[in-house]
Amino acid sequence: MLKTKEVVLKARELGKCIPAFNCPHVPMVKPICEAIRDENSVAMIQVARVEWEKMSSQSLERIAEEYGKYKSEGHTLLHLDHIPAVDEDFKKVDYMDLIGRALKAGFQSVMIDGSRLPLDENIAVTSEAAAAAHEGGVPIEAELGAVMGHEAGEMPPYDEIFAKKMGFTKLDEAARFAKEAGCDWLSVACGNIHGRVAEAVRNQKKPEARLDVEHIADLYKAAGIPLVLHGGSGVKHECVLEAIKAGISKINVGTEIRQTYEFALEEKPGDIEYAQKKVYERTRDYIRNYLYNTDLADQIK
Ligand SMILES: [Zn+2]
Repeated sequence: MLKTKEVVLKARELGKCIPAFNCPHVPMVKPICEAIRDENSVAMIQVARVEWEKMSSQSLERIAEEYGKYKSEGHTLLHLDHIPAVDEDFKKVDYMDLIGRALKAGFQSVMIDGSRLPLDENIAVTSEAAAAAHEGGVPIEAELGAVMGHEAGEMPPYDEIFAKKMGFTKLDEAARFAKEAGCDWLSVACGNIHGRVAEAVRNQKKPEARLDVEHIADLYKAAGIPLVLHGGSGVKHECVLEAIKAGISKINVGTEIRQTYEFALEEKPGDIEYAQKKVYERTRDYIRNYLYNTDLADQIK
């Protein structure tokens, strides 16, 4: 059976990056699993708390159950995305309970997101969650810096975020965090932004993001663990390829596959099969023509 921690390290060795596809709607799990298998690739299915609180993935258990029907040995992995210590509405979350439930439900890796907390508290929260994950035998991802977009309300213009390096993960903090927090992978802020989740704006086209690739290379050196790029949809393609060379080993893909599903349902209301077919095609295309990860399963075993 594929071991998630080794998969990500192996991808790094090969100069590759493992995509993790968000499933904010339960019927998305099937076509994404099938696309990964049919490309003979390796990738993760993931769900974040915000996707069952504010979208229609229902619960982490529901996604795990659906995943159980369509998973493919040697190809797919199940990851728990964003479990915030403090959520996008600035409410406290019982993250230890959710992580415990995920371990019970069979998730093969988890994320704790303490990035809205001051550094010391982020380290404390991450250490606590990391101990539980490792006890359960799975790796854990954490976040440092501010990957904006999930919060309700106005976001600063993208060009301003990039020019002023707003929220970018700091080198000295990354070094300290990786050493003290005990996480296996680190999600960093380097020009990437999340797709909006607030209902009023979630159908908007994401602004094209760029990445500070030099900063990513420096962060990778400072942290010494695989880095994760959130907000992988709508990033300039060359930037993503360069970022993979610089140290990004997992990329989260949410908005573009979600919108593929939702727009297909707008086109043909109620036709879930049609929407699934669109998601299947879009996911295959992403694996094949964006990450060049076709046949990755032959190299990662
Ligand atoms: Zn994220």
